[in-house]
Amino acid sequence: VVLAGLFTTGNVEDAENSLRELAALAETAGSEVLDGVMQRRAHPDPATFLGKGKAQELAEVVAETGADTVIADGELAPSQRRALEDIVKVKVVDRTALILDIFAQHAKSREGKAQVELAQLEYLLPRLRGWGDSMSRQAGGRVAAGGAGMGSRGPGETKIELDRRRIRTRMSKLRREIKEMAPGREAKRADRKRREVPAVAIAGYTNAGKSSLLNRLTGAGVLVENALFATLDPTVRRSQTPDGREFTFADTVGFVRHLPTELVEAFRSTLEEVGDADLLLHVVDASHPDPEGQIRAVRDVLADIDGFDVPEVIVLNKADIAEPETIARLRSQVEDCIVVSARSGEGIEELRQLIADRLPRPEVEVDLLVP
Ligand code: GDP
Repeated sequence: VVLAGLFTTGNVEDAENSLRELAALAETAGSEVLDGVMQRRAHPDPATFLGKGKAQELAEVVAETGADTVIADGELAPSQRRALEDIVKVKVVDRTALILDIFAQHAKSREGKAQVELAQLEYLLPRLRGWGDSMSRQAGGRVAAGGAGMGSRGPGETKIELDRRRIRTRMSKLRREIKEMAPGREAKRADRKRREVPAVAIAGYTNAGKSSLLNRLTGAGVLVENALFATLDPTVRRSQTPDGREFTFADTVGFVRHLPTELVEAFRSTLEEVGDADLLLHVVDASHPDPEGQIRAVRDVLADIDGFDVPEVIVLNKADIAEPETIARLRSQVEDCIVVSARSGEGIEELRQLIADRLPRPEVEVDLLVP
């Protein structure tokens, strides 16, 4: 894929951060990022998002790299997407579609899947007209960027009405199902109590280093494929404290900027694991220009989860490349934190010990002492 960035306000650095994040998202979705272009404009071009000249440049980059997809760092109107596709000659998707795709890949629970499908349909519904335009365009050469108005109803239009109705029916069915599925707070509590193995959840901004840290902490060899494990969610890994107590690690979907509104609900439901955990490792990229902003953004979302009361430890990651002043500043601001580097291994043993100290000790251990 080739990325297409655009910045209208703010500074270049912010746009670059956004594009870097988009690259990380594309890789998460399994794409290879070949190149990117960046455009500065007062506002997005209504016709082609980037503007004609920049779009042409993008087409050259696409041809040179042999990319098969362009990802625009923003939300495209159907007409903008089509116009861009006409110029670059490959598929164009936007940030929202990419994020939806990642969520679809990560949703494992029945509720999570239903939430993501609902979000996908919500995204699709207003875009159906875009398909109608291209249909009528093929049929009569009419280009209706403003949509189909009076007197333009053709066979395509009827089909769209039908599709719309089907989608709306499906959406209300999904909403009903989700309502029925959502387990109450009490049920979750009971679940947690019943489960003998404590759970640690890892959350944090995309690119903070969650996966790297999870790999460091569990190691490929620790992944146990026994019968019990097979029944657990595949994103959950087993591990052991230094004194031999078992616990699980659950990685969550990374937090991202500009989370599309359609996704906020779906996102919450993928965070269920966090609400279920005994301990939350909130991973922060200490080398980021604004780590405090990221911490706040993550906490804001977590605070919105119903009945959220999981003890949180801030894990300041990337200590190997972070400014010592930033680390010192964060240390003084954040009460409960630990400094590590998933890359160099610094602080990892301390983190293991911290997890062991914080996890609840199962009451069954007491029974075992009785002969
Ligand atoms: P996630 O999106 O939170 O899962 O982040 P990843 O684990 O995929 O890491 C994002 C990027 O940061 C990758 O390029 C990692 O190699 C890099 N990274 C992760 N941890 C560290 C660290 O401790 N130090 C440095 N220098 N880079 C790291």
